[in-house]
Amino acid sequence: MRKKEFAVIGLGRFGGSICQELSREGMEVLAIDRDEEKVNQFKHIASHAVIADSTDETTLKELGIKNIDHVIVAIGDNIQASILTTVVLVELGVQRITVKAQNDYHAKILHKIGAHQVVHPERDMGRRIAHSIISNNIVDY
Ligand code: ATP
Repeated sequence: MRKKEFAVIGLGRFGGSICQELSREGMEVLAIDRDEEKVNQFKHIASHAVIADSTDETTLKELGIKNIDHVIVAIGDNIQASILTTVVLVELGVQRITVKAQNDYHAKILHKIGAHQVVHPERDMGRRIAHSIISNNIVDY
């Protein structure tokens, strides 16, 4: 069976950690960031690491992004770049697109333009930790 291929766009703390875990699990990962320093950090972790601006359709086409099984867009702060990147990925027909949302408005737009999965890492982790604190307290007292 062919190995599933992933691409992670944006190698901040969130994207970097996804890239690291997928690679550790033996997955094929293409790591993309427009920041050369970030890309250098992942050169020996991901299968391939490239400096690229993901809002540029031609660049994404040249990288063969449409043949990647699952693309994770982990650009948080730059909402415009995140939206534009997602639009390009949807238009190119990428099979599975997961995008990190910065807030509820961002998430709504991402759903509307065709992202398959929208994640809110900070919010979700906050909720998970709150629940774990509550259940630990129930056990403690
Ligand atoms: P995190 O909270 O995950 O640490 P961050 O705050 O470090 O994220 P963000 O602005 O959310 O940084 O962006 C994450 C990464 O995405 C950065 O490394 C940034 O260089 C990269 N990035 C931003 N815009 C683009 C783009 N158009 N093309 C490629 N990479 C981009």
